[in-house]
Amino acid sequence: MNKWFGLPWLGNDLFSKLKRAGIAYDPKFGFKFTRETDVSRAIGIISGALGEDVEVESSCFICGRPLGENERAGSVLCSECTKSGDAYELYTMKFANLMAEI
Ligand SMILES: [Zn+2]
Repeated sequence: MNKWFGLPWLGNDLFSKLKRAGIAYDPKFGFKFTRETDVSRAIGIISGALGEDVEVESSCFICGRPLGENERAGSVLCSECTKSGDAYELYTMKFANLMAEI
């Protein structure tokens, strides 16, 4: 989620289907699920094309570690970062940095 990932070339047809499902594409970075992406539809397309189940992995907003099953669904921080008292401060700092990059 919100990270670029690569896919093997799946053909023009699938490519346009993915684009219609709202997946962002960049020739250099590959594909990305964004807020505009119809996630379940996109996952269905990719799973079908690869012939295997695909999951979207969320990663911690602060440290970037993949969020495990222990993390509450929809959370953006891993348990380690949530535990650390500075979580909110780190979060806002990181957010400010992201904004600065844009
Ligand atoms: Zn973390």
